[in-house]
Amino acid sequence: MPNFACPVCRAPLAASAQGLHCSGCGADYPLVHGVPVLLNEPNSVFRTEDYLGGQGYEGASGYAGSADRTTGLRRAYRRFATSLSEAPVPGVGFDPLEIIQAQKPDAEILVIGSGERELKGNVTYTDVALAKNIACICDAHDLPFPDASFDAVFAEAVLEHVCDPQRVVAEITRVLKPEGFVYAVTPFLQPVHMGAYDFTRFTYLGHRRLFRQFDDLRSGMIGGPGYSAIHLGRNLLTALSDRRRVRAALRMLALLATYPLRYLDPLLSRTESAYNSACACYFLGRKRETPISDREMITLFRGR
Ligand SMILES: [Zn+2]
Repeated sequence: MPNFACPVCRAPLAASAQGLHCSGCGADYPLVHGVPVLLNEPNSVFRTEDYLGGQGYEGASGYAGSADRTTGLRRAYRRFATSLSEAPVPGVGFDPLEIIQAQKPDAEILVIGSGERELKGNVTYTDVALAKNIACICDAHDLPFPDASFDAVFAEAVLEHVCDPQRVVAEITRVLKPEGFVYAVTPFLQPVHMGAYDFTRFTYLGHRRLFRQFDDLRSGMIGGPGYSAIHLGRNLLTALSDRRRVRAALRMLALLATYPLRYLDPLLSRTESAYNSACACYFLGRKRETPISDREMITLFRGR
């Protein structure tokens, strides 16, 4: 079990008959399917009792509960639609984990919003849904770990889904050891996804500023204007109707119509101008002692 701290008062947690008990504020935290639910409830949109009911955050159905139960033609159609919508987005051209582990082979890594992801190494997985391998359910606004516990934190496609990204990055910074690494990927020009749990987007520089207490090892865009156009083109068509069946038909039309744009993206994302309409931004950084000033920050702008 990782070294947990109380998400409310940050005192150490110890095993109790019901789950975990805080030696500081006296709070008790239950286990659900053996996984501790470590929420600072007044601060969170999530409620412990929802997990006790066996349901928890509805996004859980997006993990283990998402098996396709359709058959025949409908299944084929669905698979075709999925293959169109999930056609791979270009990667960043490097493996952040390799870079981190090359410098620190036994790095202790925290993954926030891990879903079903698996990384090689000494990894602690967390999520707000009951996903495979998770060490605990937690809300990244109040990470249940002591200060300076990890060598690296991964937050991919997470920061758009939190109410207060600044606070989450402050928490990431807190649980990182001095000179610890962060790797984040966050959308810029993408429509709303995951319903109500989608709060914000970042420009390249807005994303850079979130990590102002980090030196930039590598940063840039994932998916250029071509991928942004795919996302927005799909939304342009599906926005024509609120009716479920009509939207499903429009969605297939949109998937087909926007598909070729991905072949344009390698050309489009070669320029600095492409940063003006990037699909997502990534940042691999190392924690520094003091934050970068905003005056220096604006010199780090990328775009035209
Ligand atoms: Zn406590």
